[in-house]
Amino acid sequence: MSFLTHFAAVTAVMLLYYFVPGILFYYEFYIRHRCRWQPLKIQQKHPGKAQLRREIKSSLGAVFIFSLAAWLMYEASIRGYSQVYFDIHEHSLVYFGFSFILNVFANDTLFYWAHRFMHLKWVFPYVHLTHHKSVSPTPFDALAFHPLEAIIHSFTYILLIFIIPIHPIMFGIFHAYNLLANVAGHGGFELMPQNVRSHWFFKWQNTATNHDTHHKKFNCNYGNYFVIWDSFMKTKDKGQQKKDKVKDYTTSHSLVQDVYLK
Ligand SMILES: [Zn+2]
Ligand SMILES: [Zn+2]
Repeated sequence: MSFLTHFAAVTAVMLLYYFVPGILFYYEFYIRHRCRWQPLKIQQKHPGKAQLRREIKSSLGAVFIFSLAAWLMYEASIRGYSQVYFDIHEHSLVYFGFSFILNVFANDTLFYWAHRFMHLKWVFPYVHLTHHKSVSPTPFDALAFHPLEAIIHSFTYILLIFIIPIHPIMFGIFHAYNLLANVAGHGGFELMPQNVRSHWFFKWQNTATNHDTHHKKFNCNYGNYFVIWDSFMKTKDKGQQKKDKVKDYTTSHSLVQDVYLK
């Protein structure tokens, strides 16, 4: 496959993954049923057009870099340099499914430490500030990265295919999940009921509230899919942890406002 064909195909898929859920989410929550969902808005502030334009512009630049990274991964894989395997029978079907979990946990770890690195005082203004310009993010902030930040994330994705055997189908599934989780995490609304969030299993899952708080406070909640590293490194937001103990918020709009909007 030529460079241009591969680049165009990957860019098209990434733009679909970015725009389709982003537009649907934005239309439902920020326009169509804005009043209905407002009680679940994490920060009261709604974005202006300038914020949306900035987020989309930065994301398009990042998509360009991710597409280049995908081409590099493709070239390395067809030459046999990576752990990507093209014959699905090379590993068991159990491993095929398990490779998703391996990638999620490995990516979560790489993301956490890359994120901590990007928050160092001498790195932040040049690398991560673009993403943090949205203090109250929208789904379109999911890929709003400075080119240097997009290169760092690309490096972590490239690293994964060199350490974990993965089939191209699972590679596609994992990256679709990664992008969709990212869009939901930047949505600005907490849709997971409190009783689910406090469940022993799901409490390790990162939430939109956690990442929204990261955008608001900058110095906590660095995790991607999970709060495992934040818990271990004691970087979870202390205030949020207290608020999380409040019982079921879905039954009371005023309680939601007490919990989230103050
Ligand atoms: Zn950050
Ligand atoms: Zn973010």
